[in-house]
Amino acid sequence: MGAVIQISYFLAAVLFILGLKRMSSPVTARGGIVWAGVGMLVATFVTFFWHGLDNYTLMIAAIAIGSIAAWVSGKRVAMTAMPQMIALYNGMGGGAAAAIAAVELVRGADGHSQAVMGLAVAGGLIGTVSFSGSLIAFAKLQGLIKRSIVFPMQQPFNLAVLAAAAVIGGMLPFQEAGGTLVFVFFALVLAFGVLMTLPIGGADMPVVISLYNALTGLAVGFEGFVLNNAAMIIAGTVVGAAGSLLTQLMAKAMNRSIANVLFGAFGHAPQAAATDSEGGTLKPIDPDDAGIMMAYSSKVVVVPGYGMAVAQAQHKIWELAELLEERGVRVKFAIHPVAGRMPGHMNVLLAEAGVPYDKIYDLDEINPEFPTADVALVIGANDVVNPVARTNPESPIYGMPILNVDQSKNVLVIKRGQGKGFSGIENALFGKDNTRMLYGDAQDMVGKLIQAVKRL
Ligand code: NDP
Repeated sequence: MGAVIQISYFLAAVLFILGLKRMSSPVTARGGIVWAGVGMLVATFVTFFWHGLDNYTLMIAAIAIGSIAAWVSGKRVAMTAMPQMIALYNGMGGGAAAAIAAVELVRGADGHSQAVMGLAVAGGLIGTVSFSGSLIAFAKLQGLIKRSIVFPMQQPFNLAVLAAAAVIGGMLPFQEAGGTLVFVFFALVLAFGVLMTLPIGGADMPVVISLYNALTGLAVGFEGFVLNNAAMIIAGTVVGAAGSLLTQLMAKAMNRSIANVLFGAFGHAPQAAATDSEGGTLKPIDPDDAGIMMAYSSKVVVVPGYGMAVAQAQHKIWELAELLEERGVRVKFAIHPVAGRMPGHMNVLLAEAGVPYDKIYDLDEINPEFPTADVALVIGANDVVNPVARTNPESPIYGMPILNVDQSKNVLVIKRGQGKGFSGIENALFGKDNTRMLYGDAQDMVGKLIQAVKRL
């Protein structure tokens, strides 16, 4: 039986890796999720045949409760609430890895070498930080915690808590079975996860969630060594590696180095200030005039953002793009890596609406094209098109790579009113001479633009 289990775990690991590979392209991503899901099913199923297990009732009850909760919440969650959902699920993964570590550490060495117990401690530490940190991230994104909590000497205090946890953790592999030290260790690490995440400002949160995701993967991998479980080791390592790469990509897209996120940015929430000095007056435009402007253009670049997701305007914007193309206008879609509220947010929505992949361009590809675009149509995007990121060193988003829509001949911006973006700062784009504002809900407004183009 042991050999069958190991072969099944190997198969599950292959499915995880192939699934992840397929997730790297929007064309195959949906299938990739199914592949990885089947891998997880295989791994879960064969675990029931692991020697020495006798608590089947508890296992089945836990799986049933978890599955129902995940199914219901997964079905119900709005696309815009996906980041906090990911934070929550990811935290559960970290917590599960930490729980394994806690059981093994309370049980004591029990045949494990000290090196393996050391891995249990490392996995316990990382998993617990990911657990409590992700819960705070969830609470912040859900609006349950509304502000960054900062106090004097915060960094040294946090470091002291971590150091104390590390010292106690270092002692755990050498102690007999027991509870008190293990309890103190986990209490300190739980506190550290909370303390480390509380001061982080909203703008850094996506990077932090991605980082915790990578940490959860690592923790699971470490605990896989403790349980001698190949599937956990491989799946954990894959998640850890993929999460680390994603963290790096997001940090780059938000202009933060990983070191800065890890050691520098904590405790320094960006200030919602730095209004742009070049700010001019906002100039509204009638949807009919905007429709004419686009219909007689040769190139239009559509820049979607969070507001498109809120308004669920992806289907309408594609209808508009098709109408324009029928008139001979070249239409391209430009996606910033952190547009919306989760990585790939805009790609998912545009794919859902049926926008072909060859019309979708990323930041590096499209930026050189803005000067030759007749119209850049910004739909519910704000921070990712804010030129102060290039021009104003005082701005909290200074240095973040942005889509250079302001370099287009004309810019049309669809938004409901004076609402700010995620970073809470003014946008210098809106007052520029070549920018016109289309005030309204994104879906309604694109509907009006469609009517305007149809009337021509
Ligand atoms: P922003 O959050 O900067 O701006 C969204 C804009 O959409 C607002 O200015 C709002 O203005 C407008 N809007 C909201 N609802 C509607 C609606 N129904 N119709 C029309 N407009 C609407 O979005 P961006 O996509 O430009 O930037 C993403 C931001 O989120 C970045 O700061 C990024 O760092 C951050 N972030 C990104 C994550 C990711 O992984 N992608 C995760 C978490 C945060 P108004 O109220 O006036 O309508």
